Amino acid sequence: MEERYQPRTVEEKWQSRWAQDRSFRAVEDPGKPKYYVLEMFPYPSGRIHMGHVRNYSIGDVVARYKRMRGFNVLHPMGWDAFGLPAENAAIERGIHPEAWTQENILYMKTQLKSMGLSYDWEREIATCEPEYYRWNQWIFLQFFKRGLAYKKSSSVNWCPSCETVLANEQVIDGACWRCDAAVTQKELEQWFFRITEYAEELLRGLEALRGWPEKVLTMQRNWIGKSIGAEIDFPLVGRSGTLTIFTTRQDTIYGATFVSLAVEHPLAPELAQGTAQAAQVAAFIERFRNVSQAKRGAEEGEKEGVFTGAFCRNPFTQENIPIYLANFVLMEYGTGAVMAVPAHDQRDFEFAKKYRLPLRIVIQARDRQLRADTLTEAYVDDGVMTDSGEFSGLENGEGKEKIAAYAESQGWGKRAIRYRLRDWGVSRQRYWGTPIPIIYCDRCGTVPVPENQLPVVLPRDVPFTGKGGSPLLESKLFGATSCPECSGPARRETDTMDTFVDSSWYFLRYASARYADGPFDHEKAGYWMPVDQYIGGVEHAVLHLLYARFFTKALRDLGLSRIDEPFTNLLTQGMVSKETYRCSEHNWLFPGELVGSEKQGWLCPHCRRPVIKGRVEKMSKSKKNIVDPEDLVDLYGADTARLFTLFAAPPEKDLEWSDQGVEGAYRFLNRLWRLIFRHRALWSGSASAAAGSADASPEIRALRRMTHRTIKKVSEDIENRFHFNTAIAAIMELFNEISRWLQAQNEASAQAAAVKESVEVMIVLLAPFVPHVASELWEQLGHRERLDQVPWPPYSEEAIEEEKLLIVVQVNGKMRGRISVPADASQERIEAEALADPHVVAFLDGKRVQRMIYVPRRLLNIVVQG
Ligand SMILES: [Zn+2]
Ligand SMILES: [Zn+2]
Ligand SMILES: [Zn+2]
Repeated sequence: MEERYQPRTVEEKWQSRWAQDRSFRAVEDPGKPKYYVLEMFPYPSGRIHMGHVRNYSIGDVVARYKRMRGFNVLHPMGWDAFGLPAENAAIERGIHPEAWTQENILYMKTQLKSMGLSYDWEREIATCEPEYYRWNQWIFLQFFKRGLAYKKSSSVNWCPSCETVLANEQVIDGACWRCDAAVTQKELEQWFFRITEYAEELLRGLEALRGWPEKVLTMQRNWIGKSIGAEIDFPLVGRSGTLTIFTTRQDTIYGATFVSLAVEHPLAPELAQGTAQAAQVAAFIERFRNVSQAKRGAEEGEKEGVFTGAFCRNPFTQENIPIYLANFVLMEYGTGAVMAVPAHDQRDFEFAKKYRLPLRIVIQARDRQLRADTLTEAYVDDGVMTDSGEFSGLENGEGKEKIAAYAESQGWGKRAIRYRLRDWGVSRQRYWGTPIPIIYCDRCGTVPVPENQLPVVLPRDVPFTGKGGSPLLESKLFGATSCPECSGPARRETDTMDTFVDSSWYFLRYASARYADGPFDHEKAGYWMPVDQYIGGVEHAVLHLLYARFFTKALRDLGLSRIDEPFTNLLTQGMVSKETYRCSEHNWLFPGELVGSEKQGWLCPHCRRPVIKGRVEKMSKSKKNIVDPEDLVDLYGADTARLFTLFAAPPEKDLEWSDQGVEGAYRFLNRLWRLIFRHRALWSGSASAAAGSADASPEIRALRRMTHRTIKKVSEDIENRFHFNTAIAAIMELFNEISRWLQAQNEASAQAAAVKESVEVMIVLLAPFVPHVASELWEQLGHRERLDQVPWPPYSEEAIEEEKLLIVVQVNGKMRGRISVPADASQERIEAEALADPHVVAFLDGKRVQRMIYVPRRLLNIVVQG
C-alpha cells in the first residue's frame, strides 16, 4: 500500500477491474427483486458538465446502495443523440452531424467512465443509430394505424432564426427555447400525435404518482389544464348562424356585455364585411396573425381589440351585445369565442375599461356590496347570483350547474370539458432526426412505409446550408421512391421527428437494448419496468415527462406492455451554481483571467476597471462561471468530485460550488487513507468483526454504539430521503470518533474486534459515495471479495439501545464513585447526577463546589474548597 493517497492510480485500477469483471452487468433474474434506477440520458454535446456529474453521482449512489441491499439493479446509460447542435456543427464547420455526434459520444463516454459510474455499458444505446430509430418509425406506424398519428394543416410556431417549427412546449414567453429569438406563426402541413386522447388519463394518473415532487405534478396538471364548463350558442343578429362560446363561468352569463373572438375565428373576417369596421378589422387580423399564441395568451400582455360591427344575442338576457376581436382570445382553446363578463373576469375588465364597454355585477360578495361604478378590478370569487333573472339568489356554484342544465334543456347549450393540452406536433424541418416513414403517391395518397422496409435510413447526400426548409428535400437519393401500393412514382416525407419522440420510450429499450424483433422484449420489459427511480432536471417537468407518460400508455394500449406509468419515483436535482464576475464594459469574465488580488480588488484584464462580484448563478458558458469536471477529476480524482457534489447539498436543492468544499472532500479522503495506512496491520490479521460482548469495556461499547447508530442513520438517509449530505456527515463523525479512539487507546485495545468492525463498517458505508478509494482500502484490510459485492451492513438495535455511559466521578482529582448515565446525557445532567450520588456526596462534606471539569463520556472532576 502506498503511503500517499493517489487517486489516479486507485481509480484506474478499480475502473479496469470493474470492466474486466463486468461487475455492473444486469441480468434478468426472477428470483431476485429488481431495481431500475435511471438518470435522464445526455445529449452528446461534446463534454460532460458539472450538472451531469451531479445527476449521475446521485444515481450511482442509489444503484450501488441497492446492489449492496440485494437488489438486481439495472443502471443503464445512453445518448439522446439526435438534435439541432449536430446540424449546426455541420453548417458552421462542415462536419457531418453523424461524425460530430459519434466523436462526442466517444469522448463523453470516456469522461463518464472516469467517474466510476456503475453502468451496464452493454446496454448502451444511441438514438441516432438506425437500430434504435427504426423503432421510432415502427411506433409511428402503429400510431398511424390507430389514428394516434395524423396530419393536418395548422398554424405553427416558427423560429426565424433556427428556421424550424417549434412545439408549443418549446416556446417560452413567445421566444424560441433554444435561441431566444421571437417566435412567429406559419401555416404548414404537420404530423401530430393525438396526446389529447389521453388527456384525462394523464391527468388522473398523476394522483397515483406519490413518488413525484409536488411541483412537477402541479406543472403537469396545469399543462393539461382541464376546465369544466359549458358551451352556449349566441345567435347572430341580422343574419343566420350562431356563435358558440365556451365558458367555465356560465354562472356570470347575465353579466356578459360583449363577446370576444380570436383573430383566427372563421367568422372573424365575414362579420365585418360591409360594415364601416371592415378595414380596421382586416388590419387587426393581419397584425395579430403573426404573433404566437403563447405571446398573445400571456397574462401581462396589453389587451387589444376591435369592434367587428356585428352583434349577437345573449340567450339568457335577450340583449344584443357587440362582437369584438381580441388579441388574447386563442382559437386553440375552447371554441375561439368567449362571452366577456367585465365585472367578473380581469382580462375582460381591462378590455372593457379600455373600450368603454358596460360592466354589470351579477355575483355579489358576501362581505361587502359591490358596485359597478366603483369596481377597481374584476370580482372573481364566489358569491350570490344577482340580477340574473330566475337564477338570482342562488349560490354561484349551484348556479353554474343550473345554467348549464337550462341551456341544455333548451337545446342551445351543453355541459362541456376542455383541456389546455394540445396535440403534439412532431414534424421538424431538420436533417438530424428520425425520418417520418410515410410516402406520398399521387394516386394512392398518404401511404405508410411497409414495416418490412424499415428503417427508412437518413441519406448521406445532404448539403448543410442552414437555410430553407427540410434538408432532406435536397437529397437526390432520398425523396424519390416508388409507391408501396401501386409501384408508381412517389415521394417520401422529408420532415423528421421531434427528438422528444426518441426520449419518450428509451427507458423501455434499455430492458433489451439489442432486441431486433420489436422496440423491446415484452418479457424483459415486464421484468424491469417501471423505472423505480428516475433522476433528472426539473426543466423536463412538462415536455419529456408528459410525452414519456403518453407513450407508455399508448404502447400499453397497443398491447406491447402492461405498464401504466413509466417512472414510479422521480427526483429532480437542483442546479449547480457558482459566483460570477463581470466588468461594466466587458461583461462576464472568467475568474482565472482577472488581474489583481482578492485583497487589493480584482480588475478587468481588458480595461482595468474594478470587477463586480456578481450573483451566484447556474453554471453556464455564457456567464463564464463553469468548472470543467475533467479538470476537477484530473486534479483531485473522481471520488473527490463525487464526494463534494454529494456532500455539499441535498440532491433536490441547488448546489453552490465552493473550492473549499472540494478541498475539504479531498482532505477527508487523504485522512481516511492515512488512517488505514497506519493501522491496517492491526486489523488485517485479526478475527472478523464480532459483536461486542457483555464484558467489553465501556469504551468499546460506546464505539460499537456509535458504529451501529451510524449504520442506521446512513441507511435511513439514503433509503427514505436520498439525503446523502447528512449520511456522509454521519460517516465523517464516525471517522473522527475512530481517529480519536485510536489516539487515546493502546495497541492491544485498538486490535479489538469492535474497532475493526467500526473501521470496516465505515468503509462499507462509504462504498456508494466514493467507490474507488473505498474498494482499495477494503482490499488493503485483507478482503478478497470486492467491496461492491459486500452486503450492506445491518445494524443491531441492541447495540444502539445500550445507551449507558459509565462516568468516573472524582472529587479534587481523586476517584470517588461511578455513575451510569444515558450516552447522550447533557453535561448539566451528568453534573447533577454526580452531585446527587451518595458515594460522592460523602466526600463533598458539605463544601462549596468551585467548578467541575468534564472529560466527555469518561470523567467528571468536582473541585471543592480546601
Ligand atoms: Zn430558435
Ligand atoms: Zn400509389
Ligand atoms: Zn473591462
